Amino acid sequence: MQESHHIFIQGKWRKGEGGIRKIMNPSSGEVLTEVKEATEEQVDEAVLAARRAFETTNWAENIELRVQMLRELSDKLEESAEEFALLETRNTGKPIRESRLDVSDSITCLRYYADLVANRICWEKEMYDGTISKVVEEPIGVCGLIVPWNFPLLLGIWKLAPALAAGNTVIFKPSEVTPLSFLKLTELIEKSEMPPGVFNLVLGEGRSVGHSLVAHPEVDKISFTGGSATGRRIYQECAKNLKRVSLELGGKSPLLVFDDVDLATAVDWAMFGSFFNQGQVCVASSRILVHQSLYDDFLTHLSARAAQIVIGDPVDETTEMGPLVSEAHRKKVEEYIQIGLTDGARLLSGGQRIPDRSGYYLSPAIFTDVKQDMRIVQEEIFGPVITVQPFKEEIEAIQLANDTPFGLAAGVLSRDLERAERVAGRLRAGTVWINGYHTPHVETPWGGFKQSGIGRELGPQGLAAFTEAKHINRNLQLQPIGWYSNKGVSS
Ligand code: NAD
Repeated sequence: MQESHHIFIQGKWRKGEGGIRKIMNPSSGEVLTEVKEATEEQVDEAVLAARRAFETTNWAENIELRVQMLRELSDKLEESAEEFALLETRNTGKPIRESRLDVSDSITCLRYYADLVANRICWEKEMYDGTISKVVEEPIGVCGLIVPWNFPLLLGIWKLAPALAAGNTVIFKPSEVTPLSFLKLTELIEKSEMPPGVFNLVLGEGRSVGHSLVAHPEVDKISFTGGSATGRRIYQECAKNLKRVSLELGGKSPLLVFDDVDLATAVDWAMFGSFFNQGQVCVASSRILVHQSLYDDFLTHLSARAAQIVIGDPVDETTEMGPLVSEAHRKKVEEYIQIGLTDGARLLSGGQRIPDRSGYYLSPAIFTDVKQDMRIVQEEIFGPVITVQPFKEEIEAIQLANDTPFGLAAGVLSRDLERAERVAGRLRAGTVWINGYHTPHVETPWGGFKQSGIGRELGPQGLAAFTEAKHINRNLQLQPIGWYSNKGVSS
């Protein structure tokens, strides 16, 4: 990549002709670099390049080439894993240990989809009328992939790997706040044998560049991860020409702590579920529901543990919590803390800036004495702010857990596995972890019930989201079937 060339179209780096954006280091508030973003005309060029590649290259037909490209990309990513992890940490502020996990999960995801398409079996069967039916999965075409800032590389790969594996061509748009890891990944793609135009990268804001991509008539599918409000706008725009759309949106996920748990272990899971990546995780356990017999002890231990959390430079190996991603986002989270206080909730601990740090730091905030209809219980805050509520009966815990507009994930902590399974079955969420939290598994679907989204990523469902099913039916007789037979034109 040449300095100041940040747009990748038709296999070539181009100078962005839009505005200049400063990319920040959230742990210091300093500028890391500047990028030049795309114009709407450049989005158009990128889409047309993807269309040309889809229609004029053998990408859609050549599974071997696609498998090879995905495997090569995973190998190259592995070779420079530490460099990617450091870049991700510098740009997002997430602790380096977490960035390493993101890189290794990205490598696993690329390999998973390479293997899945390499071993794909075409369904073929003789039907009741003697004809042969074949069902094939074809690529959808040109796909726009739009991701947020909290896992810039990993969430990008969750879309890119299945989209390419299925034979689509893509235009990728990272968050305007965190473009660096995908700029670097594009350098790896540039050096590969991938046909020009199969992968294109545009940088820019959602309302300009993102919107142009979503509204473009030559884009066949939008796969979006981000906030529910943005998701709604994108859904409406896609409806105009019935564009295919997948939406991975926000959450307000509950963690249910039953009375038979080991207290220290339960507090550890709550800490991990709530404050991993500074709580900026769509599935963060932002609502902790605790059986009333444990409630007071749980709060004492949780606030003590939260006070000990190691907040610091995310590059430092011992750091447990880094800064929030931006000053604007920290302000939004602080506004929610104020809303909680104004609505009458009790701030048990945290929610403070860190005096001797210049970055966008905020200590983990724990609210108690909340009511179910309060905004801090119902709305996604997307930061290190949680509520803790007591419950008496299992049914009450399930009702509280399900009582928000979201349904992304949930956790159940209990030694009684029969109960945990029963409760998991009644939770309206796309993922339920029993005696665990957070771990995504590449083979299993990821996505939300209710307003947490439409569709699923990962697993075979993640590949299906980038394909159209086609049924081809063969009549071996070449004869008309049924009441039209032998009644045709006389010879
Ligand atoms: P956001 O919705 O503001 O932005 C996400 C992406 O969409 C960015 O690239 C942005 O530039 C783009 N965008 C914004 N407006 C657009 C528009 N009108 N048209 C096209 N693109 C547009 O979200 P964010 O603040 O970057 O990320 C946080 C949100 O993402 C949270 O709500 C979080 O829950 C959600 N999220 C969901 C998942 C999941 O798997 N369900 C994973 C991570 C994050």
